[in-house]
Amino acid sequence: MSEFRDKKIDKLYSEIPELKCKGLCYDACGVIPLAPSENRRIEERTGENPSVKQVMLVQTGCYTCPQLKDNKCSIYDIRPMICRLYGVVKKMQCRHGCRPKKFLPERKSRKLLLKLEEVKP
Ligand code: SF4
Repeated sequence: MSEFRDKKIDKLYSEIPELKCKGLCYDACGVIPLAPSENRRIEERTGENPSVKQVMLVQTGCYTCPQLKDNKCSIYDIRPMICRLYGVVKKMQCRHGCRPKKFLPERKSRKLLLKLEEVKP
């Protein structure tokens, strides 16, 4: 486990506005892109490499995120950036009406994703 890595990841996450989630969007929890640092962090928590697990599931025709358990995210506190951006960027609005106080500009979301790629796993 790397405290330094996790601090860096969490600092980037903290730049994403919060939204009041009604917990209805689990049907959108499919195959997701993960930064290497996020992949490692989730692997340390779950004991499974999430990217490898996703590929294995896709090969069986399952496109549901392996972290989804009983329609809830089992790693909610460390969910990846792409999951946090869902609903807070105008182009990825929640279809259940959950909205942030202010949308995050798309340009900023791209910058955050790029910075996250630079965090060493
Ligand atoms: S990590 Fe959690 S929030 Fe993200 S797609 Fe998977 S189950 Fe959904």
